[in-house]
Amino acid sequence: MPELHLPAPLLSALWTHARQASPHECVGALGGGWQGERAHACALYPLTNIAADPEREYLADPGELLRALRAMRRGAQQLVGLYHSHPEGPAWPSRSDTRLAAYPVPYLIADLRAQTLRAYLLPEGTPVQLYLGGPAHPTALQAKE
Ligand SMILES: [Zn+2]
Repeated sequence: MPELHLPAPLLSALWTHARQASPHECVGALGGGWQGERAHACALYPLTNIAADPEREYLADPGELLRALRAMRRGAQQLVGLYHSHPEGPAWPSRSDTRLAAYPVPYLIADLRAQTLRAYLLPEGTPVQLYLGGPAHPTALQAKE
């Protein structure tokens, strides 16, 4: 099973973003490194949700996403995940989440109602094992506001 390791500071930044965006869905990208099927996140890039109905779906601002991907490249990071929130749950992908998924990386879904974070590869729906709250790599942590 694919794995994603998300250290404690990034986990807390993700939940903070999700709470601040509520009742809208939040969206953001995770930079880090891949070792085979195992990904380690070391940076979080909050993005603006520009979806027409942001309480029910998300669409990352494409210019911001491009800037985040460039910042990752400059920092020798790869895209290791994309996250968004479901303010009213559930922690699994909606039909549009699956339909619009375009990257071969874990898609994290934060269910604010149940305080649950899950991840999947889409469109297949393969569950990704999350390892949450571990220590950050001291030199790699570059959480962005
Ligand atoms: Zn969704």
